[in-house]
Amino acid sequence: MNNKIWLSSPHMGGTEEKYVKEAFDTNWVAPLGPNVDGFEKDLESFLGNDVHVAALSSGTAALHLALIILGVKASDEVICQSMTFSASANPIAYQGATPVFVDSEERTWNMSPEYLEAAIQDRIRKGKKPKAIIVVHLYGMPAEMDTIMEVADKYEIPVVEDAAEALGSSYKGRPLGTFGAMSILSFNGNKIITTSGGGALVSPNEEWIKKARFLATQARDNAPHYQHSHIGYNYRMSNICAGIGRGQMEVLQERVQQRRNNFESYKAVFGANEAISFHEEVSADFYSNRWLSTVLVNEDSGISREDIRLALEKQNIESRPLWKPMHLQPVFEDAPFYGDGASERLFKDGLCLPSGSNLLQTEIERVIKIINTCFSNVSQTT
Ligand SMILES: *Cc1c(COP(=O)(O)O)cnc(C)c1O
Repeated sequence: MNNKIWLSSPHMGGTEEKYVKEAFDTNWVAPLGPNVDGFEKDLESFLGNDVHVAALSSGTAALHLALIILGVKASDEVICQSMTFSASANPIAYQGATPVFVDSEERTWNMSPEYLEAAIQDRIRKGKKPKAIIVVHLYGMPAEMDTIMEVADKYEIPVVEDAAEALGSSYKGRPLGTFGAMSILSFNGNKIITTSGGGALVSPNEEWIKKARFLATQARDNAPHYQHSHIGYNYRMSNICAGIGRGQMEVLQERVQQRRNNFESYKAVFGANEAISFHEEVSADFYSNRWLSTVLVNEDSGISREDIRLALEKQNIESRPLWKPMHLQPVFEDAPFYGDGASERLFKDGLCLPSGSNLLQTEIERVIKIINTCFSNVSQTT
């Protein structure tokens, strides 16, 4: 059997161990310390635009704190992009609030600004103005941020950017994660850079970031004993994990380039295949980190995305359907949804191809060969 090819696996740069060793040598083996401070500063200078950053235990924790700080409570409604990973929507439920799902547009695969406005108007008509809007940059592709911010500003609803997949991407030259009132990042093992597990909350509002650090460390009031006036959480990033993050920040730009090269390799071969279309940067305003290279497979060709996924799996290669929209998930079946099914069509035809920054050219060639075989087999039988 050939070596396993993963969808997206961790890729160390080399200096991570130096920072982790420093943590051991100085006994900063705790959810605070110089690596946590250093990693936050690295992220702040990478993102620019005067943002502040709190390093946390996961992207999900970051989103939970964002909603708490924005005052989301039980019986509130929060708008969320339907096509995404469940972690974008779960924190709404943690707060006892109701998610209101909005469809994607085919252009960017991200939140449709038209359905966003339709949803806001209808929820207001029904008696409740949504408390926040969670917009996601799927697979690293920027959402239509100008139009989305325009709609959000018009109704004065704060935007939370879920940039878990989009560190290193930009829209009109400005890094994703700097548009929202708050934004979240993830450093899970399969993301563009990793701390083994971790996340961050980003905001231009320094008070909010201070509050996030306070809530993330059990909300201890300033007193010699343990005194609490708020419900707290154990959501801070460990100094060991942050050491990995500091090393990873040194290679982030390189990782973006490597993942963009993967996409170009796939496109150079399949660009001419009429059954396959790509998740395109629709204008020069959009710059994707290409976290995952994704394609749509038109099954009228005789080959479906599932045929390709199974053929790859047989050869020990991991690929994956696109995110199944949240409005189709059993756990959210009662939640309101606004859209025309664009996300359902994307889910039906979409496939994420192996996309790690550590993929060898020979491994990409293996993937390409198997996909080409799927198509040549079908053309021989018809
Ligand atoms: C990975 C991911 C998250 C969650 O991040 P964790 O660090 O795994 O909690 C949230 N949203 C999206 C879109 C993601 O891909």
